[in-house]
Amino acid sequence: LDDPDVAMLTGWDVAAMLPRPSRESDKYRRGVVGVAAGSHQYTGAAVLAVGGALRAGAGLVRYVGFAEPLAQVRTHWPEAVTGELREHGLGVAEVGRVQSWVVGPGVGTGTESLTVVRDVLASDVPVLVDADALTLVAREPSLLRRTAPTLLTPHAGELSRLLGVPRERIEAARLEHVRLAAERLGVTVLLKGSTTVVAEEGRPVRVNPTGTPWLAAGGTGDVLSGIGGALLAGGLSCYDAAACAAYIHGVAGRVAAEGAPLVAGDLLTVLPETLSGIL
Ligand code: AMP
Ligand code: MG
Repeated sequence: LDDPDVAMLTGWDVAAMLPRPSRESDKYRRGVVGVAAGSHQYTGAAVLAVGGALRAGAGLVRYVGFAEPLAQVRTHWPEAVTGELREHGLGVAEVGRVQSWVVGPGVGTGTESLTVVRDVLASDVPVLVDADALTLVAREPSLLRRTAPTLLTPHAGELSRLLGVPRERIEAARLEHVRLAAERLGVTVLLKGSTTVVAEEGRPVRVNPTGTPWLAAGGTGDVLSGIGGALLAGGLSCYDAAACAAYIHGVAGRVAAEGAPLVAGDLLTVLPETLSGIL
């Protein structure tokens, strides 16, 4: 890797970037993450994204969602502060102050979801946009015109929709396409896959060395988005939060799998030991 426009991430880089609590910390200063995720059809995505944010060190997670995912989040994570999104006058603006948002996992692509995504993107804090929210943004790119930083976390299929480029062409030239997306959309882009790469205009593309093919399983991406949200709320830039989230997620995958299948929830179980190995 002699290319100055490409940088391989190391555990030292990540350890140096990760936020740590100090004596002066309180839960608000450690970072409040807003999570808008899940739908009647996909309730688990909400649980996994909230779990990722909590386990990655958010001081507080404020979850907003529709009735079914909301009930699941309340059952699984009593630590989260929750609010219900209703059909009219949804509550995104009413959840209270957050330092970052995670929007998209399992949230759906209908009109209700579009309202949620639009409200979140209208906020003045960093937003991590994943999954269904990426599909909506691909349909309506003007949603990305905002004042605060934005981090997109597509897999190749989602990036294909964002760029209008066939998936196979992206898979064949991932570095070029992640760079192109960052430049064209004016945001930070984390492209998921067998090797995860992070691009931002004017910075080297960061390549993540961690991970395992066992991560190719439902829900693992939702955990990643929660981790990224916690790091954004902790004060990292999109570029740093994306890199650290990918690295941590990949190590957690290896710890959880150890040569056998993992499920996404296992990543949450091993996040504490994973982080104590890195911090
Ligand atoms: P998603 O595409 O949102 O379901 O997220 C899947 C997660 O698993 C991402 O973090 C990917 O980087 C990771 N992943 C998927 N396939 C592989 C693979 N073959 N090797 C390593 N990681 C993978
Ligand atoms: Mg996904």
